[in-house]
Amino acid sequence: MNTSIPASLPGPQSPPIQKETTAGNYFVSNYPPFAFWKSEAVPLFESVLERPADHQVPLGLYVHIPFCRKRCHFCYFRVYTDKNADEIRNYIDAVLQELKAYVSKPYLQGRKPKFIYFGGGTPSYLSPDQIRLLTDGIKALLPWDDATEITYEGEPGTLTDLKLRAIQQVGVTRLSLGVEHFDDHILEINGRAHRSKEVFRAYAFAREVGFPQVNVDLIAGMVEETEEKWRETVAKAVELLPDSVTIYQMEVPYNTGIYRQMKAEGKLVAPVADWETKRRWVDYAFSEFEKVGYTVTSTTTVVRDPAKVRFDYRQGLFSGADLLSVGVASFGHLAGIHYQNHHDFAPYVEAVNSGRLPIYRAYPVPTDERFLREFMLQLKLGRVETAPFVQKFGEEPSEHFAEPLEALRSAGHLVDGPGWIGLTRAALLQVDSLLPLFFKPEHRTGRYA
Ligand code: SF4
Repeated sequence: MNTSIPASLPGPQSPPIQKETTAGNYFVSNYPPFAFWKSEAVPLFESVLERPADHQVPLGLYVHIPFCRKRCHFCYFRVYTDKNADEIRNYIDAVLQELKAYVSKPYLQGRKPKFIYFGGGTPSYLSPDQIRLLTDGIKALLPWDDATEITYEGEPGTLTDLKLRAIQQVGVTRLSLGVEHFDDHILEINGRAHRSKEVFRAYAFAREVGFPQVNVDLIAGMVEETEEKWRETVAKAVELLPDSVTIYQMEVPYNTGIYRQMKAEGKLVAPVADWETKRRWVDYAFSEFEKVGYTVTSTTTVVRDPAKVRFDYRQGLFSGADLLSVGVASFGHLAGIHYQNHHDFAPYVEAVNSGRLPIYRAYPVPTDERFLREFMLQLKLGRVETAPFVQKFGEEPSEHFAEPLEALRSAGHLVDGPGWIGLTRAALLQVDSLLPLFFKPEHRTGRYA
């Protein structure tokens, strides 16, 4: 659940300022917030699948693997740490069954994904045999020979040499390592399953195996983070020279172990650094990576070689591509309609096994909200080219969003030029707290849950 959208916004004249870290989601990953997605819209979603697609719209595929070795204390995802091999096998069968139902629909006929993302959970929790079973099954239903990017998330402690080879052999182009931190005490106190020794081992294996790209995820502001430990973590990440690094600012959503403890102790402020400190830590990391030649390409990302490292999945998502999403609790977007699958394992598997699409809620996105969604999400990249928006929506973003853009300008957050609109570094580091300025008034109190 979310407080990334403050309960009441001061209006587009004054950007909200966040100080202490209180409970709730902070990250704006979609629009409108999930609280507005409804089960009543599911039949409409199902009906649009019965007509052919516009083949100009690129297709992506997201596959959700909800298993983890252990639940991190900051985790707000639906994950399972108790499933045995038979249950995992049943889940893989259900995912393939779900995909089969989609590819039989006119909307998916003749289409192939341009980008694929295996996320979780922990996709690397699967054994090499399970990985092959899943990916062979997907390829048989939806050939992915046109895909330019296939990303697979991995938890370092699950990545043996054998497993990394299996992941590489199925065609993965980017291995995304959930490192989060290099200090073993921080990893332990935050409930992570791996330790730093496993990170170095997995990273060396991954390089040896020869993935085209390796991404490292870090989190600034985990419980008991200090200035010194963060600097050490950044230095270690810089030493590895990954192709890209994604750095999140710690948030404490309601359905996390940390929040439950806060509640039990009657605390309103989370036991993590305040937002200003977290922004400073990410800024420090960005600067250290820039010193060795990396480029900041979004509010969370630095890349070593922007000419080589692209993020097709993110770009597709941010520019209105179709995203066929399979697996429990996954979020997708097809034919201009958002949808989300059932949250829980049992209803998800049961729906699929009884021949139904396992959809829990949906939201048809009107054109003005698609404009808003894509513009806001692209602002997270720091710079938006305006011509594609004029071509697609028939209006200049500077005119359509004049009021919130003026609010950003008067707060000193905006930079722009002919044909583009961007954010200063300071604004980019707090973009999730600024984006609600663009929300329709009726969406400002909705939760991302
Ligand atoms: S590894 Fe990721 S998905 Fe799994 S429990 Fe930790 S944060 Fe959640």
